[in-house]
Amino acid sequence: MADSAASQAFDILILGGGSAGYACALRSAELGFSVGLIEKGKLGGTCLHNGCIPTKALLHSAEIAENAKTAAKYGVKASFESIDMPAVNAYKDGIIAGKFRGLTGLIKSKGITVIEGEGKLTGQDTVTVDGTAYTGKNIVLATGSYSRSLPGLEITGNKVITSDHALTMETLPKKALVLGGGVIGCEFASVWNSFGVDVTIIEALPSLVPNEDAAIVKQLERAFKKRKIDFSTGVRFAGVEENENGVKATLEDGKTFEADLLLVAVGRGPVTANLGFEDAGLTMDRGFVITNERLHTGVGNIYAVGDIVPGLQLAHRGFQQGIFVAEEIAGQKPVVVEDVNIPKVTYCEPEIASVGLTEAKAREKFGDDAVVTQEYNLAGNGKTSILGSAGLIKLVRQADGPIVGVHMIGGRMGEQIGEAQLIVNWEAFPEDVASLVHAHPTQNEALGEAAMALAGKPLHG
Ligand SMILES: Cc1cc2nc3c(=O)[nH]c(=O)nc-3n(C[C@H](O)[C@H](O)[C@H](O)COP(=O)(O)OP(=O)(O)OC[C@H]3O[C@@H](n4cnc5c(N)ncnc54)[C@H](O)[C@@H]3O)c2cc1C
Repeated sequence: MADSAASQAFDILILGGGSAGYACALRSAELGFSVGLIEKGKLGGTCLHNGCIPTKALLHSAEIAENAKTAAKYGVKASFESIDMPAVNAYKDGIIAGKFRGLTGLIKSKGITVIEGEGKLTGQDTVTVDGTAYTGKNIVLATGSYSRSLPGLEITGNKVITSDHALTMETLPKKALVLGGGVIGCEFASVWNSFGVDVTIIEALPSLVPNEDAAIVKQLERAFKKRKIDFSTGVRFAGVEENENGVKATLEDGKTFEADLLLVAVGRGPVTANLGFEDAGLTMDRGFVITNERLHTGVGNIYAVGDIVPGLQLAHRGFQQGIFVAEEIAGQKPVVVEDVNIPKVTYCEPEIASVGLTEAKAREKFGDDAVVTQEYNLAGNGKTSILGSAGLIKLVRQADGPIVGVHMIGGRMGEQIGEAQLIVNWEAFPEDVASLVHAHPTQNEALGEAAMALAGKPLHG
């Protein structure tokens, strides 16, 4: 009895084993805490099973399809026949299975107790799973998010689907509508277009990827037009009818679109309903858990991390928040990283990678006269030309001050975000970056050239 009670009491009890929850578990174990990790589905959560990893696998298949289509340009005799969706899925699922095995083994090897089942917060230090109460000196909530819909828009899973359904399709539609021109919508539109699907994106806001810098938005819209990805922006979606042929979507201006299916990609809502959070006295806002900047909920020793905390819903933000909370509990006083300084990548073709303030936000913050920008066209970058890509890098600096925003678009530009986030987070001046050496010929060199231009000493620009 005593043993069983001890095995149900932890220093840190974490509800949800997705990116945020398992990162917290790993760091907590490393710091010497006893850790209980409650998971009702599969360790790895959305990112591993229904998000980052499967979508990037599909995007890689899409890249190979594009390579086959354009092979002749590079002197390679190859041709694109068709997409074998069961084989694409087998490749994708193989990656997920391998990573899942690795993660499960890692968690086990660190002595973390995984508790399988659906947990509910039943006290300030207690989570109950299938009638058993587990306690934690500290509780970390990490229950993640689900694909949202719009009021009155029913997800049937048949012809009106979410990304969860889109990731398991065994056949491709001929024509698809994508509702939402944000990250997930643009990624699926990009994959399907490469797979030969006729795609139209419907976005209520005035542009695709509306949170990106205006220069990047312009480039993406131009590139999507060139790829024949259609989009309608600036008019709200009114409704959709499913019929035997597919779907008919109507906008508020009366315009209609017909296709085989509609992918609803209008954002993700927090998984917090009926989990006892309100009863425990947590402050909630539209389902999100409100915390202070140190991710404490203000109640007992309860923290919240990941997609249930308002802000950017990204796996690496979840990892960082999970690690942060473990270190906070250990008294290490970790440094807060503001959402604006978290790198973002949209992995469509061309890729978008950004961190820090857009030009518009920088002008709002510092004033029109206190912001200087520099655009560097990737046409000047040898490696980008070799890859047959195009795009630009835009730097935003505070006048006579540091670089506060880096915005990039072009094939594979996601790989450049590492240096970009160091530049912004370490508040580097363009002159600092310009004096360092960037290897030739790399796409990374373009970031160095952009900084050189901003420092007043352009080389190839
Ligand atoms: C299609 C798609 C593509 C994406 N691509 C990217 C990308 O490229 N890069 C990126 O950074 N982010 C991406 N994301 C976002 C990323 O997946 C999320 O930000 C990340 O998974 C959030 O981590 P989390 O731990 O907060 O939540 P989740 O990963 O959702 O994990 C929450 C976990 O909690 C469990 N859980 C929930 N309630 C309970 C309960 N009551 N009891 C027990 N367990 C429970 C769930 O089963 C789940 O495993 C993508 C998302 C989607 C949908």
